[in-house]
Amino acid sequence: MPNQFLIPNSKFLILMGPPGAGKGTQAAKLVKKFSIPQISTGDMFRAAVKSGTELGKQAKACMDAGKLVPDEVTIGIVRERLAEDDCKNGFILDGFPRTVEQADALNKILDEQGKKLTCVLNIHVPSEELIARAVGRRICKKCGATYHVKFHPTKVAGVCDECGGELYQRADDNETTMKNRLDVYEASTRPLIDYYKHAGIYSEIDGRQAIAKVTEALENVLTSVKE
Ligand SMILES: [Zn+2]
Repeated sequence: MPNQFLIPNSKFLILMGPPGAGKGTQAAKLVKKFSIPQISTGDMFRAAVKSGTELGKQAKACMDAGKLVPDEVTIGIVRERLAEDDCKNGFILDGFPRTVEQADALNKILDEQGKKLTCVLNIHVPSEELIARAVGRRICKKCGATYHVKFHPTKVAGVCDECGGELYQRADDNETTMKNRLDVYEASTRPLIDYYKHAGIYSEIDGRQAIAKVTEALENVLTSVKE
């Protein structure tokens, strides 16, 4: 259609990906490349609580009481955050929406603000691969450098290349814990994936590639998106 055109600047994105798929690394690259903020639910809550807004106070009261923050509070906080100036030309949402109800609410918020989701990017890595990554992960006790016994081994087994510190394995980097986390993640995101597939804005990126290749694939999707 002749009135279709490449979006010049705005990138209103949702970034999804299971734990361990490299979402944080890729988000940082997109933030830099497109000069848009990454908005995670945790950061958003902390900022709202700190600034002492009405919604922030309500969220804090729930968290202090060990209760889940109700949807209307979460959605209110998202609405306020997305209305801020740095979100004018785009954002990367991370950890929101979590449910189809929240996805509906997000559409409404964006409508109100004259924005529209550009695309939903999902970094996909098969569970077996994520489990293998976690099980082989070793971390330096001294400097925090991360290694992998197979994919990124140290020169001397058990000793950090950077500082000579001793390596250890995190307690939750084991097969059972990872498999449970991934099963929960899979079950909770499936409806959202279907929702955004249906909306025609969903893209899946192969997260098994090298970091630079994943970045390239993400950027390719974004430059090919048409409004
Ligand atoms: Zn070290």
